[in-house]
Amino acid sequence: MKRREFIKKAGAGALAAGAAMGAVPAMAAKPVMWKMVTTWPPHFPMLGEGADYIAKLVDEMSGGKFKISVYGGGELIPPMGVFDAVSQGTVEMGHGAAYYWSGKAPAAQFFAAVPFGFNAQSQNSWVTSGGGMALWEEVYKPFNLKPYLGGNTGVQMGGWFNKEINSVADLKGLKMRIPGLGGQVLAKAGGNAILVAGGEIYTNLERGVIDATEWVGPYHDLKLGLHKVAKYYYYPGWHEPGTTLEAIVNIGAYEKLSPEFKVILDTAIEKTNSWMLCEFEAKNNDALNELITKHKVELRKFPDDVLKELKTYADQVLEELAASDPMSKKVYESFKNFRSKIYEWNKITEEPYQQFKYI
Ligand code: CA
Repeated sequence: MKRREFIKKAGAGALAAGAAMGAVPAMAAKPVMWKMVTTWPPHFPMLGEGADYIAKLVDEMSGGKFKISVYGGGELIPPMGVFDAVSQGTVEMGHGAAYYWSGKAPAAQFFAAVPFGFNAQSQNSWVTSGGGMALWEEVYKPFNLKPYLGGNTGVQMGGWFNKEINSVADLKGLKMRIPGLGGQVLAKAGGNAILVAGGEIYTNLERGVIDATEWVGPYHDLKLGLHKVAKYYYYPGWHEPGTTLEAIVNIGAYEKLSPEFKVILDTAIEKTNSWMLCEFEAKNNDALNELITKHKVELRKFPDDVLKELKTYADQVLEELAASDPMSKKVYESFKNFRSKIYEWNKITEEPYQQFKYI
Protein backbone atom coordinates (compact mmCIF):
# COMPACT_ATOMS: atom_id res chain seq x y z
CA MET A 1 0.00 0.00 0.00
CA LYS A 2 1.31 3.40 -0.94
CA ARG A 3 1.95 5.69 1.97
CA ARG A 4 -0.54 8.32 0.87
CA GLU A 5 -3.34 5.72 0.65
CA PHE A 6 -2.39 4.30 4.03
CA ILE A 7 -2.59 7.69 5.68
CA LYS A 8 -6.01 8.27 4.09
CA LYS A 9 -7.38 4.91 5.30
CA ALA A 10 -5.90 5.25 8.76
CA GLY A 11 -7.49 8.66 9.02
CA ALA A 12 -10.88 7.28 8.00
CA GLY A 13 -10.53 4.46 10.55
CA ALA A 14 -9.76 6.90 13.30
CA LEU A 15 -12.81 8.93 12.39
CA ALA A 16 -15.00 5.83 12.38
CA ALA A 17 -13.67 4.77 15.78
CA GLY A 18 -14.27 8.26 17.12
CA ALA A 19 -17.85 8.27 15.79
CA ALA A 20 -18.54 4.89 17.40
CA MET A 21 -17.54 6.30 20.77
CA GLY A 22 -19.60 9.41 20.17
CA ALA A 23 -16.43 11.45 20.35
CA VAL A 24 -17.14 13.71 17.40
CA PRO A 25 -20.29 15.66 18.26
CA ALA A 26 -19.22 18.43 15.94
CA MET A 27 -19.76 16.08 12.99
CA ALA A 28 -23.29 14.98 13.94
CA ALA A 29 -25.82 16.74 11.70
CA LYS A 30 -28.76 18.45 13.34
CA PRO A 31 -31.92 16.38 12.92
CA VAL A 32 -34.41 17.44 10.29
CA MET A 33 -37.45 18.76 12.18
CA TRP A 34 -40.88 18.77 10.54
CA LYS A 35 -44.38 19.61 11.66
CA MET A 36 -47.44 17.60 10.62
CA VAL A 37 -50.88 19.14 11.14
CA THR A 38 -53.97 16.95 10.97
CA THR A 39 -57.72 17.27 10.53
CA TRP A 40 -58.29 14.88 13.46
CA PRO A 41 -58.64 15.53 17.17
CA PRO A 42 -55.26 14.84 18.86
CA HIS A 43 -54.40 11.12 18.83
CA PHE A 44 -57.91 10.33 17.55
CA PRO A 45 -58.33 6.52 17.46
CA MET A 46 -56.84 5.04 14.31
CA LEU A 47 -57.01 8.22 12.18
CA GLY A 48 -54.91 10.48 14.42
CA GLU A 49 -52.98 7.43 15.59
CA GLY A 50 -52.07 6.85 11.93
CA ALA A 51 -50.45 10.29 11.80
CA ASP A 52 -48.58 9.49 15.03
CA TYR A 53 -47.46 6.18 13.53
CA ILE A 54 -45.94 7.88 10.46
CA ALA A 55 -43.88 10.13 12.76
CA LYS A 56 -42.77 7.19 14.92
CA LEU A 57 -41.65 5.14 11.90
CA VAL A 58 -39.75 8.07 10.37
CA ASP A 59 -37.99 8.70 13.69
CA GLU A 60 -37.01 5.04 14.08
CA MET A 61 -35.94 4.46 10.48
CA SER A 62 -33.78 7.57 10.46
CA GLY A 63 -32.19 6.77 13.81
CA GLY A 64 -33.67 9.95 15.27
CA LYS A 65 -32.25 12.15 12.50
CA PHE A 66 -35.64 13.01 10.97
CA LYS A 67 -38.32 14.01 13.45
CA ILE A 68 -41.93 14.97 12.80
CA SER A 69 -44.05 16.68 15.47
CA VAL A 70 -47.73 15.81 15.05
CA TYR A 71 -50.49 18.30 15.88
CA GLY A 72 -54.19 17.52 16.25
CA GLY A 73 -56.72 19.74 14.51
CA GLY A 74 -56.80 23.14 16.24
CA GLU A 75 -53.56 22.65 18.18
CA LEU A 76 -51.52 24.59 15.62
CA ILE A 77 -53.85 24.99 12.62
CA PRO A 78 -57.67 24.55 12.52
CA PRO A 79 -58.70 21.15 11.06
CA MET A 80 -59.96 22.68 7.83
CA GLY A 81 -56.83 24.83 7.50
CA VAL A 82 -54.52 21.85 6.99
CA PHE A 83 -54.51 22.00 3.18
CA ASP A 84 -53.60 25.71 3.04
CA ALA A 85 -50.99 25.44 5.80
CA VAL A 86 -49.10 22.70 3.95
CA SER A 87 -49.68 24.31 0.55
CA GLN A 88 -48.21 27.61 1.75
CA GLY A 89 -45.31 25.93 3.55
CA THR A 90 -46.40 27.11 7.01
CA VAL A 91 -45.80 23.47 7.96
CA GLU A 92 -44.16 20.69 5.97
CA MET A 93 -46.85 18.05 6.15
CA GLY A 94 -50.50 17.23 6.84
CA HIS A 95 -52.84 14.28 7.38
CA GLY A 96 -56.56 14.22 6.59
CA ALA A 97 -58.84 13.18 3.74
CA ALA A 98 -59.00 14.58 0.22
CA TYR A 99 -62.77 15.14 0.20
CA TYR A 100 -62.36 17.96 2.71
CA TRP A 101 -60.78 20.00 -0.10
CA SER A 102 -63.56 19.64 -2.68
CA GLY A 103 -64.10 23.42 -2.57
CA LYS A 104 -60.52 23.98 -3.75
CA ALA A 105 -60.17 21.00 -6.09
CA PRO A 106 -63.43 19.11 -6.85
CA ALA A 107 -61.47 16.23 -8.41
CA ALA A 108 -59.86 15.53 -5.01
CA GLN A 109 -63.04 13.70 -4.01
CA PHE A 110 -62.09 10.72 -6.19
CA PHE A 111 -59.11 10.17 -3.90
CA ALA A 112 -61.18 9.91 -0.71
CA ALA A 113 -64.61 8.30 -1.05
CA VAL A 114 -66.91 7.71 -4.01
CA PRO A 115 -70.44 6.29 -3.49
CA PHE A 116 -70.45 2.80 -5.03
CA GLY A 117 -66.80 3.41 -5.92
CA PHE A 118 -63.74 1.41 -5.01
CA ASN A 119 -63.17 -0.62 -1.90
CA ALA A 120 -59.79 -0.26 -0.18
CA GLN A 121 -58.11 -2.91 -2.27
CA SER A 122 -59.22 -1.44 -5.60
CA GLN A 123 -58.53 2.13 -4.50
CA ASN A 124 -54.99 1.22 -3.47
CA SER A 125 -54.55 -0.60 -6.75
CA TRP A 126 -55.92 2.24 -8.90
CA VAL A 127 -53.86 4.91 -7.15
CA THR A 128 -50.63 2.89 -6.86
CA SER A 129 -50.60 0.92 -10.10
CA GLY A 130 -53.53 2.03 -12.27
CA GLY A 131 -52.61 5.62 -13.07
CA GLY A 132 -54.45 7.24 -10.15
CA MET A 133 -51.37 8.66 -8.43
CA ALA A 134 -50.19 10.60 -11.49
CA LEU A 135 -53.63 12.24 -11.65
CA TRP A 136 -53.74 12.93 -7.92
CA GLU A 137 -50.32 14.61 -8.23
CA GLU A 138 -51.67 16.65 -11.14
CA VAL A 139 -54.66 17.75 -9.05
CA TYR A 140 -52.42 18.84 -6.14
CA LYS A 141 -49.43 20.27 -8.05
CA PRO A 142 -50.95 23.76 -8.44
CA PHE A 143 -51.15 23.79 -4.63
CA ASN A 144 -47.50 22.79 -4.23
CA LEU A 145 -48.56 19.52 -2.59
CA LYS A 146 -47.42 15.92 -2.93
CA PRO A 147 -50.19 13.43 -2.04
CA TYR A 148 -49.93 9.98 -0.49
CA LEU A 149 -52.36 7.21 0.38
CA GLY A 150 -52.35 7.71 4.15
CA GLY A 151 -54.75 5.09 5.53
CA ASN A 152 -58.08 3.47 4.75
CA THR A 153 -61.21 2.78 6.79
CA GLY A 154 -62.34 -0.17 4.69
CA VAL A 155 -66.06 -0.42 3.87
CA GLN A 156 -67.95 1.80 6.30
CA MET A 157 -71.37 1.07 7.76
CA GLY A 158 -74.54 2.47 6.18
CA GLY A 159 -75.54 4.29 9.34
CA TRP A 160 -77.93 4.54 12.28
CA PHE A 161 -81.68 4.91 11.83
CA ASN A 162 -84.70 5.00 14.12
CA LYS A 163 -87.02 3.62 11.47
CA GLU A 164 -86.61 0.79 9.03
CA ILE A 165 -85.65 1.58 5.46
CA ASN A 166 -87.76 -0.72 3.32
CA SER A 167 -87.95 1.38 0.17
CA VAL A 168 -86.52 4.56 -1.29
CA ALA A 169 -89.73 6.30 -0.17
CA ASP A 170 -88.50 5.83 3.42
CA LEU A 171 -85.55 8.11 2.60
CA LYS A 172 -87.80 10.98 1.48
CA GLY A 173 -87.61 13.88 3.91
CA LEU A 174 -85.13 11.99 6.08
CA LYS A 175 -82.72 14.35 7.79
CA MET A 176 -79.44 12.46 7.78
CA ARG A 177 -75.92 13.42 8.67
CA ILE A 178 -74.02 12.23 5.60
CA PRO A 179 -71.23 14.30 4.05
CA GLY A 180 -69.83 14.75 0.57
CA LEU A 181 -70.91 12.95 -2.57
CA GLY A 182 -72.99 10.50 -0.50
CA GLY A 183 -75.03 13.44 0.75
CA GLN A 184 -75.69 14.52 -2.84
CA VAL A 185 -76.92 11.01 -3.63
CA LEU A 186 -79.27 11.05 -0.64
CA ALA A 187 -80.62 14.43 -1.80
CA LYS A 188 -81.48 12.91 -5.20
CA ALA A 189 -83.43 10.24 -3.32
CA GLY A 190 -85.43 12.98 -1.60
CA GLY A 191 -83.53 13.05 1.68
CA ASN A 192 -81.92 16.00 3.44
CA ALA A 193 -78.16 15.67 3.83
CA ILE A 194 -77.10 17.63 6.89
CA LEU A 195 -73.55 18.52 7.85
CA VAL A 196 -72.83 17.79 11.50
CA ALA A 197 -69.37 17.65 13.06
CA GLY A 198 -68.42 14.38 14.74
CA GLY A 199 -68.70 15.77 18.25
CA GLU A 200 -72.30 16.95 17.74
CA ILE A 201 -73.80 13.87 16.11
CA TYR A 202 -74.93 12.19 19.33
CA THR A 203 -76.84 15.16 20.73
CA ASN A 204 -78.33 16.09 17.35
CA LEU A 205 -79.67 12.57 16.94
CA GLU A 206 -80.88 12.44 20.53
CA ARG A 207 -82.76 15.75 20.16
CA GLY A 208 -84.20 14.91 16.76
CA VAL A 209 -82.28 17.63 14.91
CA ILE A 210 -81.36 14.75 12.61
CA ASP A 211 -83.26 11.48 12.05
CA ALA A 212 -80.29 9.37 11.07
CA THR A 213 -76.53 9.47 10.78
CA GLU A 214 -73.57 7.68 9.36
CA TRP A 215 -70.17 7.88 11.00
CA VAL A 216 -67.44 5.32 10.31
CA GLY A 217 -67.89 1.74 11.41
CA PRO A 218 -68.55 -0.30 14.55
CA TYR A 219 -65.29 0.57 16.33
CA HIS A 220 -65.77 4.34 16.15
CA ASP A 221 -69.57 4.25 16.26
CA LEU A 222 -69.48 2.27 19.51
CA LYS A 223 -67.11 4.83 21.06
CA LEU A 224 -69.51 7.61 20.03
CA GLY A 225 -72.38 5.73 21.71
CA LEU A 226 -74.67 5.95 18.68
CA HIS A 227 -76.39 2.71 19.69
CA LYS A 228 -77.93 4.62 22.62
CA VAL A 229 -79.79 7.04 20.33
CA ALA A 230 -80.66 4.88 17.32
CA LYS A 231 -82.27 1.49 16.98
CA TYR A 232 -81.22 0.11 13.61
CA TYR A 233 -77.69 -0.25 12.28
CA TYR A 234 -77.69 -0.52 8.51
CA TYR A 235 -75.14 -1.94 6.08
CA PRO A 236 -73.39 -1.65 3.70
CA GLY A 237 -71.81 1.81 3.64
CA TRP A 238 -72.59 2.34 -0.06
CA HIS A 239 -71.53 5.97 0.27
CA GLU A 240 -68.03 5.22 1.63
CA PRO A 241 -66.92 1.78 0.44
CA GLY A 242 -63.22 2.33 1.11
CA THR A 243 -62.56 5.81 2.42
CA THR A 244 -58.98 6.78 1.77
CA LEU A 245 -57.08 9.07 4.07
CA GLU A 246 -54.22 11.14 2.79
CA ALA A 247 -50.86 12.46 3.82
CA ILE A 248 -49.85 15.66 2.04
CA VAL A 249 -46.34 17.04 1.86
CA ASN A 250 -45.18 20.48 0.74
CA ILE A 251 -43.24 19.85 -2.49
CA GLY A 252 -40.53 22.39 -1.62
CA ALA A 253 -39.95 20.78 1.78
CA TYR A 254 -39.86 17.32 0.19
CA GLU A 255 -37.27 18.40 -2.38
CA LYS A 256 -34.98 19.57 0.42
CA LEU A 257 -34.87 16.06 1.94
CA SER A 258 -31.92 13.77 1.25
CA PRO A 259 -32.65 10.79 -1.04
CA GLU A 260 -32.53 8.52 2.04
CA PHE A 261 -35.04 10.61 3.99
CA LYS A 262 -37.36 10.72 0.98
CA VAL A 263 -37.43 6.91 0.93
CA ILE A 264 -37.91 6.78 4.70
CA LEU A 265 -40.88 9.15 4.54
CA ASP A 266 -42.43 7.38 1.53
CA THR A 267 -42.05 4.00 3.24
CA ALA A 268 -43.41 5.14 6.60
CA ILE A 269 -46.57 6.52 4.98
CA GLU A 270 -47.03 3.41 2.85
CA LYS A 271 -46.72 1.15 5.90
CA THR A 272 -49.26 3.31 7.73
CA ASN A 273 -51.69 3.02 4.82
CA SER A 274 -51.80 -0.78 5.16
CA TRP A 275 -51.56 -0.77 8.97
CA MET A 276 -54.67 1.37 9.35
CA LEU A 277 -56.81 -0.86 7.15
CA CYS A 278 -55.68 -3.91 9.15
CA GLU A 279 -56.60 -2.16 12.40
CA PHE A 280 -60.04 -1.20 11.10
CA GLU A 281 -60.83 -4.67 9.81
CA ALA A 282 -59.85 -6.37 13.07
CA LYS A 283 -61.35 -3.87 15.52
CA ASN A 284 -64.59 -3.28 13.61
CA ASN A 285 -65.35 -6.96 13.72
CA ASP A 286 -64.93 -7.15 17.51
CA ALA A 287 -66.92 -3.96 18.07
CA LEU A 288 -69.81 -5.16 15.90
CA ASN A 289 -70.06 -8.31 17.99
CA GLU A 290 -70.22 -6.17 21.12
CA LEU A 291 -72.93 -3.93 19.62
CA ILE A 292 -75.07 -6.93 18.74
CA THR A 293 -74.55 -9.18 21.74
CA LYS A 294 -74.15 -6.66 24.56
CA HIS A 295 -76.11 -3.63 23.34
CA LYS A 296 -78.77 -5.57 21.37
CA VAL A 297 -78.39 -3.41 18.29
CA GLU A 298 -80.62 -4.50 15.40
CA LEU A 299 -78.52 -5.06 12.33
CA ARG A 300 -80.24 -4.45 8.99
CA LYS A 301 -79.22 -4.64 5.35
CA PHE A 302 -80.46 -2.00 2.92
CA PRO A 303 -82.87 -3.74 0.53
CA ASP A 304 -81.38 -4.47 -2.91
CA ASP A 305 -83.96 -2.19 -4.57
CA VAL A 306 -82.86 0.73 -2.40
CA LEU A 307 -79.18 0.11 -3.17
CA LYS A 308 -79.93 -0.22 -6.87
CA GLU A 309 -81.71 3.13 -6.97
CA LEU A 310 -79.02 4.84 -4.91
CA LYS A 311 -76.45 3.47 -7.37
CA THR A 312 -78.34 5.12 -10.25
CA TYR A 313 -78.32 8.42 -8.39
CA ALA A 314 -74.62 7.97 -7.56
CA ASP A 315 -73.81 7.60 -11.27
CA GLN A 316 -75.70 10.84 -11.95
CA VAL A 317 -73.80 12.65 -9.19
CA LEU A 318 -70.45 11.52 -10.65
CA GLU A 319 -71.47 12.54 -14.18
CA GLU A 320 -72.44 15.98 -12.87
CA LEU A 321 -69.15 16.30 -11.03
CA ALA A 322 -67.24 15.36 -14.20
CA ALA A 323 -69.21 17.89 -16.23
CA SER A 324 -68.50 20.67 -13.72
CA ASP A 325 -64.73 20.78 -14.05
CA PRO A 326 -62.16 19.53 -16.64
CA MET A 327 -59.82 17.96 -14.07
CA SER A 328 -62.72 16.04 -12.48
CA LYS A 329 -63.63 14.75 -15.94
CA LYS A 330 -60.07 13.56 -16.55
CA VAL A 331 -59.93 11.75 -13.20
CA TYR A 332 -63.43 10.32 -13.66
CA GLU A 333 -62.42 8.80 -17.04
CA SER A 334 -59.45 7.05 -15.42
CA PHE A 335 -61.62 5.95 -12.46
CA LYS A 336 -64.33 4.56 -14.78
CA ASN A 337 -61.83 2.79 -17.00
CA PHE A 338 -60.11 1.14 -14.05
CA ARG A 339 -63.45 0.30 -12.44
CA SER A 340 -64.70 -1.60 -15.46
CA LYS A 341 -61.45 -3.57 -15.69
CA ILE A 342 -61.21 -4.38 -11.99
CA TYR A 343 -64.88 -5.40 -11.82
CA GLU A 344 -64.32 -7.90 -14.66
CA TRP A 345 -61.35 -9.30 -12.80
CA ASN A 346 -63.28 -9.39 -9.50
CA LYS A 347 -66.07 -11.36 -11.17
CA ILE A 348 -63.79 -14.35 -11.59
CA THR A 349 -61.76 -13.85 -8.40
CA GLU A 350 -63.24 -12.03 -5.40
CA GLU A 351 -66.95 -12.55 -6.10
CA PRO A 352 -67.06 -16.33 -6.61
CA TYR A 353 -64.70 -16.74 -3.69
CA GLN A 354 -66.83 -14.55 -1.38
CA GLN A 355 -69.92 -16.61 -2.25
CA PHE A 356 -68.15 -19.90 -1.73
CA LYS A 357 -66.50 -19.14 1.59
CA TYR A 358 -69.78 -18.74 3.46
CA ILE A 359 -71.26 -22.06 2.30
CA1 CA B 1 -68.39 8.19 7.17
